[in-house]
Amino acid sequence: MRRRLFVTTALPYANGPFHIGHIMEYIQADIWVRFQRMQGHEVHFIGADDAHGAPIMLAAEKTGKSPEQFIAEIAKGRKQYLDGFHIEFDNWHSTHSKENTELSQDIYRKLDKAGLVYKKAVEQFFDPVKGMYLADRYIKGECPNCGAKDQYGDACENCGTVYSPTKLKNPYSTLSGAKPVLKSSEHYFFRLSDPKCTAFLREWINKSDRLQPQVANKAKEWLEGKGDKTLADWDISRDPPYFGIRIPDIKEEKYLYVWLDAPIGYFASLKNYCARKQIDFDAFVKPGGGTEMIHFIGKDIIYFHTLFWPAMLQFSGYKAPDHVYVHGFITVSGDKMSKSRGTGIDPLRYLKLGMNPEWLRYYIAAKLNANVEDIDFDPDDFMARINSDLVGKYVNIASRCASFLTRYFDGKVTDTTFDKFWNAYAVPQMFGEVGEAYESREFGKAIRTAMAFADMINGYFDAAKPWELAKDPGKHQQLHNVCSVCIRGFQLLTCWLKPVLPSLAIRAESFLNCEPLQFNRVPEPLTRIKAYTHLMTRVEEKQLDALFEVSKEATMTASSPQPSPAAAGEGVISIDDFNKLDLRIARIVKAEHVDGADKLLKLTLDIGDGMRTVFAGIKSAYDPSKLEGRLTVMVANIAPRKMKFGVSEGMVLAASGEGPGLFLLSPDSGAQAGMKVK
Ligand SMILES: [Zn+2]
Repeated sequence: MRRRLFVTTALPYANGPFHIGHIMEYIQADIWVRFQRMQGHEVHFIGADDAHGAPIMLAAEKTGKSPEQFIAEIAKGRKQYLDGFHIEFDNWHSTHSKENTELSQDIYRKLDKAGLVYKKAVEQFFDPVKGMYLADRYIKGECPNCGAKDQYGDACENCGTVYSPTKLKNPYSTLSGAKPVLKSSEHYFFRLSDPKCTAFLREWINKSDRLQPQVANKAKEWLEGKGDKTLADWDISRDPPYFGIRIPDIKEEKYLYVWLDAPIGYFASLKNYCARKQIDFDAFVKPGGGTEMIHFIGKDIIYFHTLFWPAMLQFSGYKAPDHVYVHGFITVSGDKMSKSRGTGIDPLRYLKLGMNPEWLRYYIAAKLNANVEDIDFDPDDFMARINSDLVGKYVNIASRCASFLTRYFDGKVTDTTFDKFWNAYAVPQMFGEVGEAYESREFGKAIRTAMAFADMINGYFDAAKPWELAKDPGKHQQLHNVCSVCIRGFQLLTCWLKPVLPSLAIRAESFLNCEPLQFNRVPEPLTRIKAYTHLMTRVEEKQLDALFEVSKEATMTASSPQPSPAAAGEGVISIDDFNKLDLRIARIVKAEHVDGADKLLKLTLDIGDGMRTVFAGIKSAYDPSKLEGRLTVMVANIAPRKMKFGVSEGMVLAASGEGPGLFLLSPDSGAQAGMKVK
């Protein structure tokens, strides 16, 4: 069945250029979109700038520009990033647009009509010099608890006390320095606590596969509340001066809070695009239109996308999202990216240094999975994966085969022995696995399968010793067969990697002299390849040095080295202690639910010299059917433990932190069941 998909990424705030976190999200969504298109589905991939709110108004004022001028200049800078990293949105628009004003006012009116909007007086600090109400972040003063100076309006950085800004001693406005005065103003609220809202959200959140399990759990926690904390109504209005959309049908000048009109920007951009393309907009945004609405977002904005946004849509006659796919953040060498500290990778600098955008796409894809997990950019790992895997394994196949095929066979490819290889190496199964991995956003798994296949082809090529076959004219048929099988293998790999490497794939298709590769059919046999031209260079260390030079300088003073626990002598074990552990790569042959067990899955593990049964407490994080076939690490020499459900013959290793989520360890591609981990 042909799917019709409307896919978005979170709208970036238009107060600055893109950072690496934006680029990571766009690459993730772009790969998924390209895969869907290769399946023959109809996809509309939409983005826009989030251009309203006080921070933009104030930033514009600082530079002496009007907000309109300010956001127009930011918007002009977007294209170089998107084109540079092969991110192909069908449309890029702005929340400061005619479409967004109309849609936001329409949604507001319908929510009002549904009885979900009410007015309430709110007492708030007001800056008499600046003539505006102050959000908490624009107020500072002395902590009411410890007396520390220059503390923000919501919490003390010195003693950690949380308070409301009205409790600060000697408060002042960070905008003008003036002493703020308390003033009352009528605000408009969205009644999120209304029983029909909570009933709807409960159903929406619980629909299986709509949200990742850890996201659904988070949303449920907010929805159901903890203790006496219940879902609060949402203040959706702001007083002037404000850069935003007017609340319609009222006499006073009031604006919609930027977080109300921001997600509506998804629709505004789509509407703008539909008008241009003469497509029916309503089919996408009204119930029953036969389309799927899918948002890719970061973990910091789950609240807005799983509570406010679906409720807003549902009660204004629009269709709520089908899926919200959440990703973690990107760190650099383990450091949280922070703009103020200047760490992170400047994406524009990356491009200006002439670094290949597809390296970054590949690296990010190799690290991504379907969980809400942070990924780390590690320069050494980056270099290894590009140079050894991408170039050394994949691209290398093309150059090795091409030289023989061109020299001895005029570029002609024979297909006579391919089917034998195809079946012997279980390629159809891998084809299915790669497709499923892309579909479920397990990109790292897709890459691992592709690299395992590249290893097989290279192994097959090496074992046949084509350089020796070439010396004996009597063995040229065999040489032709080997090189033909391997170049077909390269064609398959190109198909599998095409969502990640769109530009390289086009050049490879031209070299292979074949039709554009698709995911919904096996690539056609090759007949005759063209002369090989270089497909991809290796990363050089000096490029990475240049990329990080700037950020290193910026962080030098910001962080001081921490003594490691090993140096301090605490919790240190000897290498002999460590060697007592029998850690092994295990293949999960079978994973099953256990009747009556809340947390456990029963795993059957192949550890090379036999099978083991392990009961693992990972049920909350994994669907057993998705575990089968994957590799993990197990402790093989821990004493067997008798449990209520049977005997557990070892432990599998998983990571967890303070937040939700549990993450099974996996080895890099190439590892086999039974290998020792040391
Ligand atoms: Zn304090």
